[in-house]
Amino acid sequence: MSSDLVRLHLKISINFAILPDVEPDENAIKIKDVRSYVIKSEENEKLQGSSAYYHKQVEGHWIDGTDQWPIANPMSLYQKYKSRRNSWGIGALGSVIVEIELTNGINGVGISIGGQPACYLIEYHFRRFLIGEDPLNIEYIWDMMWRSSINYGRKGLTIQAISAIDLALWDCAGKLRNEPVYKLLGGKTKNSLPCYATCYNPLAAKNLGFKGAKFPLPYGPADGDHGLIKNIQRIKDIRFSVGNDFPLMIDCYMSLTVPYTLKLLELIQPYNIKWLEEALPPDQYNGYSQIKKENRTTCLLTCGEHEYTRWGFKLLLDNYCVDILQPDVTWAGGLTECRRIVALASAYDIPIVPHGSSIYSYHLQYAFPNLPMSEFLLLSPNGDSISPIFGQLFHDEPLPINGWITLDTYKSGFGVTLNKTNLFRPYFNQNRTK
Ligand SMILES: [Mg+2]
Repeated sequence: MSSDLVRLHLKISINFAILPDVEPDENAIKIKDVRSYVIKSEENEKLQGSSAYYHKQVEGHWIDGTDQWPIANPMSLYQKYKSRRNSWGIGALGSVIVEIELTNGINGVGISIGGQPACYLIEYHFRRFLIGEDPLNIEYIWDMMWRSSINYGRKGLTIQAISAIDLALWDCAGKLRNEPVYKLLGGKTKNSLPCYATCYNPLAAKNLGFKGAKFPLPYGPADGDHGLIKNIQRIKDIRFSVGNDFPLMIDCYMSLTVPYTLKLLELIQPYNIKWLEEALPPDQYNGYSQIKKENRTTCLLTCGEHEYTRWGFKLLLDNYCVDILQPDVTWAGGLTECRRIVALASAYDIPIVPHGSSIYSYHLQYAFPNLPMSEFLLLSPNGDSISPIFGQLFHDEPLPINGWITLDTYKSGFGVTLNKTNLFRPYFNQNRTK
């Protein structure tokens, strides 16, 4: 063998050594069962006030858009779908709830969206990577779920299903160690979290003690100049109602174009808007980059709610797309992936303000310094009072007091108890795991 060939052979051996299978230690507590649930009926899910997905709400809820104030969205250019987001199926898939049972009787719970299709993936594909494994080998299990689903997954539904499993594993880990999850991530960097409210009525949010408020943009490019004028009037009225100093943010839910966004930024400058959120569809990395380059105002730019995994967020960072990233911990790959996204963002000095996700976000935010603020959704039908983000899904979801969330140091895992009253397991076939 020539010396060149020997060198090549050595390089390959070092970089691609085959890993031996990871076996649980002899006395390890193992994963006994994995169960994935949806809410029993759509009506139940709506009456419960959303569960894991904020868009399963009763008719007339502000988050669906109202006659007075529609919500601009990617379907707004189609006349018959523009007035209500539920008309085109924003909540069609609904919630998924994963419960992992250990051999010592401990149960961990994780949630996401994806409904029955997510249950199918969990029960018929991912289950095989969980049963009999040590629940503390979370990186190992995440990597197998990711690699085994690359051929059909990478973003969206598949990563949401993986997220729910990952969060259930972290909940198990906290309960096994008898500690809150943030302590497993490295301990706390703050004692409480300041919250801004996502709502219909920012004045109500201010009166409830929130530190800022975000409201949806009503109209998009398809509504032309008339819509743009109505947008500015709405923003002006809201600014007037809350006074000059209360932080205000605007959510565009992927509804705009580059020219529309630049014009909007210019027109809202007098109203001191803190950030403009998710102006473009998530794959338009170049468009985001262009807006950030050409933005001459003091308004910050944000996105990330519909982005997935470290690879997606690295694209946003490498292309200098926004000033703040907003991964959803229950969608973007779970806690395992989101702590990598947090580390990546810190290297670019970009703060993270996670999208919703309640307790699952709070523990991440406690553990790392570059997550300065929490989002809290005001999901009561009129948007003027505080209710649990996940509806009746948990018995004890923590709520903000005067705009601050404080986690209970003595509760293990994510610190909540699942309410199983209305849960239904659509797929259960232990034979279909191979
Ligand atoms: Mg948003």
